[in-house]
This record gives sequence, C-alpha cells and structure tokens, in this order.
Amino acid sequence: MSVAPPDMEDVDVVIIGAGFSGLGAAYRIIERNPGTRYVILERRAQIGGTWDLFRYPGVRSDSSIFTLCFPWEPWTRKEGVADGVHIREYLCATAHKHGIDRHIRFNSYVRSADWDSSTDTWTVTVEQEGGAGALYRGRFVFFGSGYYNYDEGYTPGFPGIKEFGGTVVHPQHWPQGLDYAAKKMVVIGSGATAMSLIPSLAEKASKVTMLQRSPTYLFSASRYSPSADLLRTVLPGKVAHQIIRLRNALLEGMIWFLARKTPGFIRWVIRRIAISKLPVGYDVDTHFKPRYNPWDQRLCLIPDADLYVAISDGRAEVVTDRIDHFDSTGIVLKSGGHLDADIIVTATGLQLQALGGVTVSVDGGEIKPQHRFVYKAHMLEGVPNLFWCVGYTNASWTLRADMTARATAKLLAYMESHGYTHAYPHLDGKPMPEKPSWDIQAGYVLRSPHALPKSGTKRPWNVRQNYFADAIDYRFDRVEEAMVFGRADEKAALTG
Ligand SMILES: Cc1cc2nc3c(=O)[nH]c(=O)nc-3n(C[C@H](O)[C@H](O)[C@H](O)COP(=O)(O)OP(=O)(O)OC[C@H]3O[C@@H](n4cnc5c(N)ncnc54)[C@H](O)[C@@H]3O)c2cc1C
Repeated sequence: MSVAPPDMEDVDVVIIGAGFSGLGAAYRIIERNPGTRYVILERRAQIGGTWDLFRYPGVRSDSSIFTLCFPWEPWTRKEGVADGVHIREYLCATAHKHGIDRHIRFNSYVRSADWDSSTDTWTVTVEQEGGAGALYRGRFVFFGSGYYNYDEGYTPGFPGIKEFGGTVVHPQHWPQGLDYAAKKMVVIGSGATAMSLIPSLAEKASKVTMLQRSPTYLFSASRYSPSADLLRTVLPGKVAHQIIRLRNALLEGMIWFLARKTPGFIRWVIRRIAISKLPVGYDVDTHFKPRYNPWDQRLCLIPDADLYVAISDGRAEVVTDRIDHFDSTGIVLKSGGHLDADIIVTATGLQLQALGGVTVSVDGGEIKPQHRFVYKAHMLEGVPNLFWCVGYTNASWTLRADMTARATAKLLAYMESHGYTHAYPHLDGKPMPEKPSWDIQAGYVLRSPHALPKSGTKRPWNVRQNYFADAIDYRFDRVEEAMVFGRADEKAALTG
C-alpha cells in the first residue's frame, strides 16, 4: 500500500456527516471490522445533522422514534414521538458511549472526493473554519450527508415579499430567541414542518394561521405508548427495544400498505378522525381532504391530534387559498382576503441535494450522481468504494440507513478477507428502464427530479420503499452480485 503524503491524514474509511447515517455507519463498520481506522468529517460544530440544524419551536420526529433510533442503542425516554432536542441528546450520548465522537472532525466541510485507481484510494478535500484546508486519504468513502441543502431551504419567489414590514422566517434558519409572544403569525405550508410548528407556536402567539394551497393527510397517533412502557418494564431493555421497534415498523408498514391498496378506506378513517376531533360543522373537506391518495405524498403525523386541538381552542386556524402578493401588513389572497401578520413563516420546504454537495471524481472525470444507476440503494454504478446512505420516504430513515451501514461493513469484511482493494457495481450493458429513486410526489422531490441517482427496475438496481422486502433481500444478500472486485497492485503490474 502506498504511503500518504505527510500533510494528509490516512484512514481506511472517510465518513461524511455526523447525523444518524454517519454515526450508524461508524458503529456497524467497527462492529464487523474491529481495528478499521476511520474519521467522520462534519461541517457543523456539533453532532446531530437534521436534529442540530432544525431549531424551530415544536421540532420533533414525524415517525416513531423507536424505528428512527438505532436498533443497537435503545430509546429510553417515555415518548414515542420525540422532540428534536431529545433526539440530538440521544445522538450525542450514543456517539460518546460508543467512542464514536473521538473520531469526529467538526467544522470540516468536505468539498471534493477524488478517486485514484492507481492506488485505489480516495483523496477528500476539506474546507475548515476560517478557510483553511485539510486533506484526508481513505480506501472507502461513506456519505452520511443527508439529502438536502443545509445552506438554503426552499422559498418560492413570493411577489411583494420585500414590502412586508414584519419578519419573514424559514424554519431551516429559525432565529434563536425570536420573540413571537402575542404576535400574529402566518405559517405558509402544509407539510410536516408546518404541522409540528403550529401547535407549538399557538401556545404563545396571539393567533397562528396556517395558509395552505391544498390540504395534506394528517394521521393522529398517541405521543406515548403504554404498551411500549409495559414491555420495557417487564423485559430487559434491549429485548424490549427490538420488539417495540419491530412492532412499530410493522404498524407503519401496514398503514402505508393499506393506504396504497385501499386508499378509499384510509381516506375514510382519516376523515372520521378529523371530524371527531374538530369543532362541529368545521369544513373538513375544504381544509383536510386532499385531492391525491394517502401516501402519494407524505402522510403527516399529528401526535394526540395537537393541530386539531389548537384549531378547536381557537388558537390556530387554517386558510386554504393562494397567495396573490405580500403587502406591508401581511398577505393578500387570490380570493381577495387579507391575512394580517407580524411574523410570516415560510414552511415551504427543503432543497434536495445529492452527496452533500461534494464534487466527486474518478480518475479526474467528474461523477454526476443523477446520470448513474444506484445499486442496492447505496452504491453508484461504476464508482468504486463509495457508499451513500439514503433512508426511506415512507418509513423511518434509520430502517434503511442501518441496512446500508451493515451492507457496507459486510463488503469491507469480504474485501479484506479476499485482499481486494476496490469494488464497484457494474451493469451488464443491457439497457434498463429507469425510474426515480424517490417515487413520492412531495414538493421537494418534484422540484428537483434530477437531484438523485436513477433507480432501475430490477434487482439489484431497483430502489424500493419497502423495508420488509429489503430486509428479506438483505438477509439473503450476495456481496458478489453485479460487483467487480480487484487489486490496485494487479492493475499496476498490468500497466507497468
Ligand atoms: C424537520 C425534519 C424532520 C424529520 N423527521 C423525520 C422523522 O421523524 N423520521 C424520519 O425517518 N426522518 C425524518 N426526517 C428526515 C431526516 O433527515 C432523517 O431522519 C435523518 O435525520 C437523516 O440523517 P442523516 O444522518 O442521513 O442526514 P442529516 O441528519 O441531514 O445529517 C447529515 C450530516 O452531514 C453533514 N454534511 C452534509 N454535507 C456535508 C459536507 N459536504 N461536508 C461535511 N459534512 C456534511 C451535515 O452537516 C449533517 O450533520 C426529518 C427531516 C427534517 C428536515
């Protein structure tokens, strides 16, 4: 193996990102390959990723925390829908407990990753705080960099927004200490962020109006699970955790399956819940009856029907209309109405971004992920020793992130035992129909259809949003399937 230049830190695996994906990868890689040298490069100053970035009031999980947390580190708090601050604490404590935090280099923004097939190594270029640079060399690179642009959320070009005399806030960049007590607030949007923000804002604001173009399906579930509590009382922590996790994955999977197979029934259930929780005579069909089927777009969780409670108490209201323009005191609606506001929150979404915005090249040729098929949902066609962790759109992220981490650890072990220094997935050259990797009609996916790599339609190139089918495939997975292995010294001998 060639020696890295003195100004480079040399490791086996460079992991990018200290959120769920990066921390989970570190744990699984070491579990299966003790002694592997790795570093985690994190552009932020703290652990947590999404759960460190998003600080708006009410930020919380919108899937079960028992499936979002790691399978190897039980969630011990009472609630099954967790607040952002508690998820961040869990991630920090877990990284510390398993010694992962010692491997993190904070304020290290990865700008490029370049593969050199003469040495079978990646050179990773990092920009540090203050503009200084650093280089890392690794045999493998693992992207736990999430799926959206950290620098900017999505805000449509609202006409007249500059005329507005109050404050405009995007939830991705919530100003700490923003005083909204007794203020009139308008939240634009009807996605998961709006749903978690509004009940929380409504506790202090004088009035919160949710302005939506069209409704979203909302599913109410209890924040606390007495049966999970009971299981944790009578069983050892780790056993209870596995049972609760499996049960919740099954439940979430079943709701998704029923929504796809019997949309009429699920629509009916959701509507009945809304009618029972909202005031008598409330116009459920205008504000809470979407035109699409459940799970064409994400189904939003409202714990203990908190949004409906805030509406019933008169602390929040929903307006379904279109924005004509902003004026100095609020928003003029297409219908002619006006919404007065002191603060307007643009809960208008994320911007999808592949590979943390890192420029990736192989022997000097830039790789555009959107032009490549994705292999087993975590490697790119023709790109050696690179892994990318992307979770499910219809179930907790970590359900797939953990499978990706284990598959990575397994491939590393296989290569080590065979003395291989590179592995890349290879298409057999036959044309294959393509489809989007994320087949959900969410705004942020529709706005950037080419941000993610392509999915094929058959194994191992078919990206599915089906945890149980993937878990079975993973169980019988063959590392060699459609994979080319080799050694750098063999190549050198051939060319030398
Ligand atoms: C508000 C909100 C709520 C959500 N709720 C849920 C939920 O309830 N359930 C669920 O399953 N999913 C949810 N998600 C999706 C969520 O992002 C995932 O659950 C999960 O946190 C993703 O983990 P990750 O580690 O892959 O990515 P992230 O949490 O996004 O972490 C990526 C990390 O990589 C770092 N990074 C990125 N690019 C670079 C670079 N170039 N150089 C160095 N570091 C880099 C980032 O700074 C960050 O720390 C939610 C998302 C949002 C925005």
